[in-house]
Amino acid sequence: MQIAVYGKGGIGKSTMSANLSAALAACGSKVLQIGCDPKHDSTRLLHHGRKVVTILDYLLNTPEDEQKLDDVLMTGFLDTGCVEAGGPRPGMGCAGRGILTAFDFLNQFHAMEHYDQIVYDVLGDVVCGGFAVPVRRQYANAVFLVTSGESMAIYAANNILCGIKNLNPNGSQIAGIIYNSRGVGDESKRVEDFAQAVHLPILARIPRSSSFAQAEKEAMTLVEKDPDSTEAKIFLELAGKLLNQPRLYPAQPLSEEQMELFMRGDTPSQATAPVQEKKPAVVIPPTPAAPSGTKKRALSDPFSRVPLYGCAYRGAVDLAIHIKDAAVLGHAPKSCTWYAINGFSSYARRGLYERGILYPAFVPRQFENTDITVNDAVYGGIDHARQKALEMAARGIRNIIAVTACIPGLSGDDLVPLQKELKTLGVNMYIIHTDGIEAGDYNDGMALCYKTLALEAVDSDVTPEPDCINIVYEPTISSQTDKNFMDLQDMLEKMGIRINCRFLCAEFMENIRQFKKAPYSIMARYDELGHQLQNIFEEKYGCKFLDGELPRGFSETADWLRMVGRLYGKTAEAEQVIAEKQLQYRNQIDALKPLYKNKKVLFFLNNKIIDWIFELSRDLDWNVVDSILIGSKEDRTIDWRHQFSKDWDGNLESLKKSIAEKKPDLIILNHSIAQACIPADIFTANLSRDVGSGFFAGTECALRWSQLFENSLEGRWKHDKSIFEKLCR
Ligand code: SF4
Repeated sequence: MQIAVYGKGGIGKSTMSANLSAALAACGSKVLQIGCDPKHDSTRLLHHGRKVVTILDYLLNTPEDEQKLDDVLMTGFLDTGCVEAGGPRPGMGCAGRGILTAFDFLNQFHAMEHYDQIVYDVLGDVVCGGFAVPVRRQYANAVFLVTSGESMAIYAANNILCGIKNLNPNGSQIAGIIYNSRGVGDESKRVEDFAQAVHLPILARIPRSSSFAQAEKEAMTLVEKDPDSTEAKIFLELAGKLLNQPRLYPAQPLSEEQMELFMRGDTPSQATAPVQEKKPAVVIPPTPAAPSGTKKRALSDPFSRVPLYGCAYRGAVDLAIHIKDAAVLGHAPKSCTWYAINGFSSYARRGLYERGILYPAFVPRQFENTDITVNDAVYGGIDHARQKALEMAARGIRNIIAVTACIPGLSGDDLVPLQKELKTLGVNMYIIHTDGIEAGDYNDGMALCYKTLALEAVDSDVTPEPDCINIVYEPTISSQTDKNFMDLQDMLEKMGIRINCRFLCAEFMENIRQFKKAPYSIMARYDELGHQLQNIFEEKYGCKFLDGELPRGFSETADWLRMVGRLYGKTAEAEQVIAEKQLQYRNQIDALKPLYKNKKVLFFLNNKIIDWIFELSRDLDWNVVDSILIGSKEDRTIDWRHQFSKDWDGNLESLKKSIAEKKPDLIILNHSIAQACIPADIFTANLSRDVGSGFFAGTECALRWSQLFENSLEGRWKHDKSIFEKLCR
């Protein structure tokens, strides 16, 4: 069970929460208390005043790949878990946003899953998107309002009810009121009147007592210090009620006018007979699964890749548009979406595409934007999203990929209820909660989009059919993607195997849904994200993958095709394709050989999968003057059939020395830093750039590189008017 204790700051809700946690633990529950107050003293009485590292401080000061739950999780009385969300420095930042971030962190480590009872201690003065998280994201099954008879405490309690009503208008989420007496005037009557007016029971009455202060001096709860005291027994009794499935009530706050009347001592008109505690009528529902998107940080593990460029919103949008029949809904200001759309539709990018440099992005038939403004950071922009999504549904759109930018992240807009509403209309909404930069950079946004669709869009009931295969994780921005795909399709079709789904490259949603139809899949490339995607498909859907990534070079591709032939019972067909391609390959080699006559080639290669380059070198009879290999041969599993007689001991100094001695015409490398060490009068071919796959990956490179020799390093075209005019026309 998850219990949120809301109350005005200073009302004693942290004392109430800590004593309640202690009482639940004393009843045998495994309890986690999460302090959601920036002043981070919620759990002090449980862990006896030890120094606390708040989640927000921790996130600020700890690199992402070094973060661990144990660094912020303390253990207190009877093994209660104690966590403090913390907040930004006073006067800076947004504390509500901080709560969202802290919850994302806890979700990342599945912190809540290890406890029977979670107690959230939440500041109730401000019920913004962040502070409403325990209720808004349906973490809390039961809400307690802590109040005294003081006006401000009752105002705050009513305000919390307003927030809950907005977030959960039809649900019953409130367990009742904890009346914490401050010993002022006729406060018992005021609290009773308020409880009656809002139709809630008073579940516990905590008398004003110096015992609390004495226990607090020793940094203990009263339940721990004096479990036999009257006050401690109240908490133990309250814990017993909680464990016995209390009745839950809907939020029925007083209106402003009613509140005014109430404060003046008049009875508001909605007041009726006092609410009696009854036998359980509404059973506490099981803890709902965390809504999609709440684990986004877990999905953004750092991995080696190009540095930051662009935000996660843009990355997710850039990938989402590759689904041909889904509409993208940007829950974002116009400026963010302009920036994202410009990325795939600008004149410059179209120009690159037309010249075959970029892979085409499919601008979907529908790209809608909620056009939220900075005001929506204050009031929340969910209504805009709902309106747009319903309009899209009315137009017959059946698949929507919603991507959130920074402002919805700040205001804490949660699209999950809208997703459920759309489902009833037959519309699938996939939510990519990037929250702009919250999920990270461009690649993190892409990763989140990939993973969300892998987890949510694939139909797990589909059964495999023969003679089809999936291709997963093709590069979406590459000059080679289209060609690689065509080549692969050509080879496989000749063997009678069709491509079932390209995940996620120029694909239809229906084919993504039918992903499981293919008995095998292949990774187009295999990096950290590729590895994670493969894991999702294997673990969630039981899919099978061929080893490694798409093959490169003749031998590797032939071996790969033979393996596919064996798996699909098409060995003869595979041999036929190989024989046909071999003829073609030989012709290409014969044509290329003269282009490298009298040319000296030098390799400077690290331990990527590079067999194909050595095979190419052998087949073209290159004059390899040196092959400098760097890294450790053991770092990767590679097939070293074409190994040159060199050890893995190279470095930049050996490269410089070799260049000076051997004076190569062409240096082939896959090491970007090394490029800077190479004099400008030597041609370089960098394998870190786009290299295709398949039988002819090597010969295509060789043809391209041979054209380097036709250029003059002095910039012949600059002095040749005809070339200049031709290029610039
Ligand atoms: S970082 Fe945030 S504000 Fe900037 S473009 Fe991305 S989503 Fe918009």
